Amino acid sequence: MSITPLMPVYPRCDVRPVRGEGCYLIGERGERYLDFAAGIAVNALGHGHPHLTKAIQEQAATLMHVSNLYGSPQGEALAQRIVDNCFADTVFFTNSGAEAIECAIKTARRYFYVNGQPKRHKIITFNNAFHGRTMGAISATNQPKMRDGFEPLVPGFAYAPFNDLEAALALVDDETAGFMVETVQGEGGMTAATPEFIQGLRKICDERGMLLILDEIQCGYGRTGKFFAYEHYGITPDIMTVAKGIGGGFPLGACLATEEAAKGMVFGTHGSTYGGNPLAMAAGMAILDVMLEPGFFEHVTAMGERMRSAFEQLMPNHDHLFEEIRGKGLMLGIKLKEPAVSRDFVAHLRDNHGLLTVAAGENVFRVLPPLVIDESHIAECMERLSEGARSYAPLSDD
Ligand SMILES: *Cc1c(COP(=O)(O)O)cnc(C)c1O
Repeated sequence: MSITPLMPVYPRCDVRPVRGEGCYLIGERGERYLDFAAGIAVNALGHGHPHLTKAIQEQAATLMHVSNLYGSPQGEALAQRIVDNCFADTVFFTNSGAEAIECAIKTARRYFYVNGQPKRHKIITFNNAFHGRTMGAISATNQPKMRDGFEPLVPGFAYAPFNDLEAALALVDDETAGFMVETVQGEGGMTAATPEFIQGLRKICDERGMLLILDEIQCGYGRTGKFFAYEHYGITPDIMTVAKGIGGGFPLGACLATEEAAKGMVFGTHGSTYGGNPLAMAAGMAILDVMLEPGFFEHVTAMGERMRSAFEQLMPNHDHLFEEIRGKGLMLGIKLKEPAVSRDFVAHLRDNHGLLTVAAGENVFRVLPPLVIDESHIAECMERLSEGARSYAPLSDD
């Protein structure tokens, strides 16, 4: 037998973390890494944050899980707190981002079903998007590498280029339910939607009775310096998915909706055994205790600006390597010039300079630090990045 006990779907690297301390990861041999990957934008409070850890420990000892057959004081409290701080009127809790996407798709389809327009089921999504790995989510994701071999896909999706309002409008027909779009694309290359694009999609939805679904699984929860990225654009969605930072490392996601958009989601239409269990709710509540403290988002904005300007200073010294900087807040991406390859540069920073970042599409590498970094972490990142850029030699045959 040659298959590994862990299904070999990930090309795992040689970093084998066994402990985390704030913004650092410690590997099996005791080596330390500056963690500017943060579990792919998950560990918003870094590793071992005392408030989050304590909340999980105490809840685990009190009541871990009961099923959704019973009343949920913990779920009601967290949902209320989320609702009080954003556009939404109601929340469905999941265990992951992809499940939140499934709930969003189902919510949109049910909306038109109960509105007496069951033909309006089609959702327009965008090239380079990433929405997750379930059948619904890969059907919404126009990327062959995630879809090949898994056909037939779920029908009812159409794809337009990102930030191209005309192209999106051209796909709208009498079967269209709405748009689903990342406010800032993560996996695809850290491209922020332009204001004209997001505001234009909102306007089309308003004019045609369509639903705007935002996927803020990566860019939400403080990552861009606002609680949610849509706040930068002066619009609100009808439905929104969140995950990653919402649990700070505890598996948690959510589908948020307005009362109107959720009107088809009545008793029996959806469910999850684990979704929103007391342990997950304790983690979600602890994250908000910290994030909703005055000054938290301002800190993210300040650190994001500082990091961006540090990158901008560094870039001219490595003109052959760095092409441009993208993203918002502490969701930053740097596009590399060929022959440099982002995946390869990420490995170089990791293996030779102890700096963890994440590769993305369009030859971009992502810098996604914990939101609680301070200036010393930024300085250390810049030092390692600058050394890494100097010592990097692109593989000529890559
Ligand atoms: C990570 C991600 C997902 C999928 O979340 P999972 O928890 O891996 O299922 C969906 N959309 C976006 C924008 C993401 O970044």
